[in-house]
Amino acid sequence: MDVMSAPAIQRNDNCFVLALALLSGRAMIRALSHMALIVQKYGGTSVGNPERIKNVARRVLESQRAGNQIIVVVSAMSGVTDSLLKLAAEVSEHPTEREMDVLLATGEQTTIALTAMAINQLGGSASSLTGAQAGISTDGVHTKARIANITPDAVHRLLDDGNIVIIAGFQGQTSDGRITTLGRGGSDLTAIAMAAAVKADLCQIFTDVDGVYTCDPRVVKVAQKIETISYDEMLEMASSGSKVMQSRSVEFAKKFGVRFEVRNSMNTNPGTLVKEEENGMESVVVRGVSIERNQAKVTIDDVPDLPGVAAKVFDAITKANIVVDMIVQNVSWDSETDISFTLSAADLPKAEAALKPLVSGLGDKVELRTQSGIAKLSIVGIGMRSHSGVASKMFTALANAGINIQMISTSEIKTAVIVNESEIENAARVVHTAFGLDA
Ligand code: ADP
Ligand code: ASP
Ligand code: MG
Repeated sequence: MDVMSAPAIQRNDNCFVLALALLSGRAMIRALSHMALIVQKYGGTSVGNPERIKNVARRVLESQRAGNQIIVVVSAMSGVTDSLLKLAAEVSEHPTEREMDVLLATGEQTTIALTAMAINQLGGSASSLTGAQAGISTDGVHTKARIANITPDAVHRLLDDGNIVIIAGFQGQTSDGRITTLGRGGSDLTAIAMAAAVKADLCQIFTDVDGVYTCDPRVVKVAQKIETISYDEMLEMASSGSKVMQSRSVEFAKKFGVRFEVRNSMNTNPGTLVKEEENGMESVVVRGVSIERNQAKVTIDDVPDLPGVAAKVFDAITKANIVVDMIVQNVSWDSETDISFTLSAADLPKAEAALKPLVSGLGDKVELRTQSGIAKLSIVGIGMRSHSGVASKMFTALANAGINIQMISTSEIKTAVIVNESEIENAARVVHTAFGLDA
């Protein structure tokens, strides 16, 4: 897991001490006046059209009028980021990532202005800030930059003057002034990181479902909303396909202890609280089920069972900038073995190009095989640490439904299998039922 550096409030210099003093002064004033500082993030669907932006404006004003200071983080309106990606593809086969970031950042910039306008129209006082203006500094890895530090001076100034501050999610700026973006779904990360930097009392992620469910409610209709989930479970679910939260944002929340809730922007139902693990949470064996589509499998058959072969294969894959997921090496027979791994289907052509020259150099018998059209099903729960028979229950449910398992991997709190993509929804439903998760 990569290490993200702390927000600027953790810098070890005199400014840091002064910033802390100012911060605790602010926190003290808030405490004395019973005022809370709340970060609210609204995703693409929640700001998907003018009516929805007006709905957000009303909700934000209500929260402020209840006596709170409000920072709002918004995504691009739904579909906008995808349209920008398509536009880029229409003018260039290989646009530079630097220019991609300049382009993609415009999506969120549109929403901040519209949201601020809608709040002002209702008689409130709102000001918008781009990621850079909000003090979000990142490394230079375009299209998936990491936050290096946050200097929220401008945010505090606007809040102190009674404004609602509207910040563009998903974007930041390098130390030499280049615009960066934080990876798909990155507005979640902006909200969590900003909540950590300003020491917010509450961070709310508003989306188009009531919270985190035991499985994507669009796939498993009988999925239930989870009331409380640990960071580790949320992280495993997010990184195994439950895209309700961006996985890097959960990683950040765990590291800086940011408790947050996931709620629906269209109603006032209670949501899901994501927090540190506590006693009793282990009594639930499987907290949730995730699915990840568009996976592919690469198998290299009959490779020599010698030191350095796996290193060569994965070195070539790393150099091609490909992230692999499950890796399986067979038991060796006659000094030969098979290596298989999975990856995103979008990366398959790159992987084939990287491995073909290598495979021919490994021996005459060595064969490269690939398969797309597969998907991954995962069950996640910290209760799996202390309960046995979890994997066999999952495999039995799949067997009873006639679903073939192609690969298996396990970790302390997750068991994952690869099945044909055409069977993934049925697989999710039968496993969900087997673990008693149906509403
Ligand atoms: P936003 O635009 O608000 O960031 P996303 O589309 O990124 O919203 O995430 C919300 C969607 O995540 C839901 O509409 C739902 O289909 C999907 N989803 C996947 N897994 C889950 C889950 N376990 N619980 C809730 N939603 C899930
Ligand atoms: N607009 C970006 C995306 O679609 C970031 C986000 O919505 O969180 O991925
Ligand atoms: Mg999202």
